[in-house]
Amino acid sequence: MKKYAELSHQELVREKGVLLEKLNEYKSEGLNLNMSRGNPGADQLAMSEGLLTCVATSADCISRGTDTRNYGPPTMLEGLPEMRDIFGAILGVDAARVIVGGNSSLSMMYDAFSRAMLHGVLPGMTPWMRQDKIKFLCPSPGYDRHFTICERFGIEMITVPMTACGPDMDAVEELVKDPAVKGMWCTPKYSNPTGIVYSDETVLRLAALNPAAPDFRIFWDNAYAVHVFRGDDRLMNIMEALERNGKEDMIYMFASSSKISFAGSGVAAFAASAANIAECRRWLFAQTIGPDKVNQLRHTKFYGDIKGVESHMKRHAELVRPKFDAVMAAFDSGLAGLGIADWSNPSGGYFISLNVMDGCAKRVNDLMKDAGVVLTPAGATFPYGKDPRDANLRIAPTFPPLGELKMASEILCVCVRLAACERLLDARA
Ligand code: PMP
Repeated sequence: MKKYAELSHQELVREKGVLLEKLNEYKSEGLNLNMSRGNPGADQLAMSEGLLTCVATSADCISRGTDTRNYGPPTMLEGLPEMRDIFGAILGVDAARVIVGGNSSLSMMYDAFSRAMLHGVLPGMTPWMRQDKIKFLCPSPGYDRHFTICERFGIEMITVPMTACGPDMDAVEELVKDPAVKGMWCTPKYSNPTGIVYSDETVLRLAALNPAAPDFRIFWDNAYAVHVFRGDDRLMNIMEALERNGKEDMIYMFASSSKISFAGSGVAAFAASAANIAECRRWLFAQTIGPDKVNQLRHTKFYGDIKGVESHMKRHAELVRPKFDAVMAAFDSGLAGLGIADWSNPSGGYFISLNVMDGCAKRVNDLMKDAGVVLTPAGATFPYGKDPRDANLRIAPTFPPLGELKMASEILCVCVRLAACERLLDARA
């Protein structure tokens, strides 16, 4: 088929009619699917079924001499040592620099933000809320919930374009010359939603940044550190690079088991330099006596160690890869060559980033909703929910069973084509 832009008016009208007919056929199937978040599939959750039974008796609750059912010694504020070992390995840092928390890394990010706002990042530093207008760098498309944190705290977000190697580092290096820029969001491996892995050069340039703000922090959300389903992408260890440059205080790292064990009922972690961890611990002491150690113990008993986590993720990969392949196959046969869309083809993580014709993402979303498939709202991948091109959509393939996913992907192609037809016809009217 020709590129849509090369179709005559009549050809476009005919194409639109065919697409509308197809869409009506799909609608009659009565699909009711929610693909708005990166939920693991039921088959992935089933692989962690053992978490529900591996701590069944009071005897099971004793770990290295600690009864996890009780508050335990003060060192337990940072979580169970064996869980800290696992997250140290996931994040590539010494376990002594890891605090394991509750069920959500997002809430640990929110807490880190709150501490910076209320108290400043280190003793003696002015709280962010007592400074004039402050700003944050937001590589986009990015993770909507990162942007929500900034928005709710009234922090001005500056969009930084994403490239195939990570955030546009020329832009980042320029923007951090402004002392009002206090930090930056990064999802360095299998980025949400583009699926890219930061290149070594990007990591080295980030580790060498010279921000004008002395209290600048990179929020390094390594949510998909072990979520490879094809190949073996490697992310350079940024903490080691920062330490070599004497800049290790510049980073806060996060991860969780939400997409390893149970989403929303896993374990989350925060890692940072010795100074940052000591400061975090000081406020954490006021906030809690300690995290849910029984849940942490369930995880360490079930997975064992980092090797156990990695072999578990290999089994996840077998379930997840066919789903990504199915979406790719649908896009290849339904959209390739039409000049109306491009998409990422990731090797890990949870998302595919689809760019449709400018001005069409919202329309595609509405058409999909009408056909029974809810996607992440258009615009969500940009600060303030505003995609300047109204072009980007985040596709989350893991949740639906394969059959439904295939149908949803075909419907998506029809909606992308229909929205493009409408747009082109409007433009020529
Ligand atoms: N960070 C990123 C980049 C994510 O994609 C997600 C989940 N979609 C989270 C954090 C949320 O993690 P948690 O469940 O640990 O709060």
